[in-house]
Amino acid sequence: MTSRRPVVAGNWKMNGHLELADQLVEKFATELNSDAVEVVLCPPAVFLSDLSKKLEQNRERLSAVELGIGGQNASALEKGAHTGEIAASMLKAAGCEYVILGHSERRAMYGDTPELVAEKFAQAKANGLTPILCTGESEDEREAGKTFEVIAQDLEKVIECNGKQAFDNAIIAYEPLWAIGTGKSATPEQAQEVHAFIRGHLAKIGDVDADTVRILYGGSVTPDNADELFAQADVDGGLIGGASLVADKFIKLCQLA
Ligand code: PEP
Repeated sequence: MTSRRPVVAGNWKMNGHLELADQLVEKFATELNSDAVEVVLCPPAVFLSDLSKKLEQNRERLSAVELGIGGQNASALEKGAHTGEIAASMLKAAGCEYVILGHSERRAMYGDTPELVAEKFAQAKANGLTPILCTGESEDEREAGKTFEVIAQDLEKVIECNGKQAFDNAIIAYEPLWAIGTGKSATPEQAQEVHAFIRGHLAKIGDVDADTVRILYGGSVTPDNADELFAQADVDGGLIGGASLVADKFIKLCQLA
């Protein structure tokens, strides 16, 4: 079996502050000290440059830690008269290596359709960012037996727009909508079943070695349930919302991955 380095990404959403970054840097330097896991911090966009400078200032102390930063969204367009939008090239200039795309909150509230997310994915790739593509079903879709169908559509749109090798440098996050911010995580078996489907479907529709693609689980992950989730064969770490805002919890999750 191919070994995949786990990733733990923290999605601060519209929360957090730079003091949290200070706390995290301190913890990473003193309590993680390992590159066995790739850590990604995704604060609100206005904090990216400061966070990037902070990491640079602490480069020596953090030299053993594989730590990067990411945006929470990017425009599908290159530039122009699009008030409030942020181009992928700007995220890159602010120090990002990653960008979360298609988070369910953006799909539900800001018109991110599978097609639009696929175009954002193309911009991210064109600007050297690693997309973290979120996908997942609602509770109704799960109950109607449509989980795989919903996820397959998201993956297929990305491939239609970006080609069969789209996922050669990309991360996927399986985030069931009913688990995000609800305190009700998927069971390890539910997560594994969907992750295995994602990997199998990628192998079918793409032209990448699906065994090398990292697939993260997201949805109410805490230090109490992470061990079993992260132990599943096709779960390669987590995309963390609420628990990424508490330095002690986030560092614990990085240690568990
Ligand atoms: C998320 O929003 O990506 C997420 C997984 O949130 P939480 O961990 O709070 O459920």
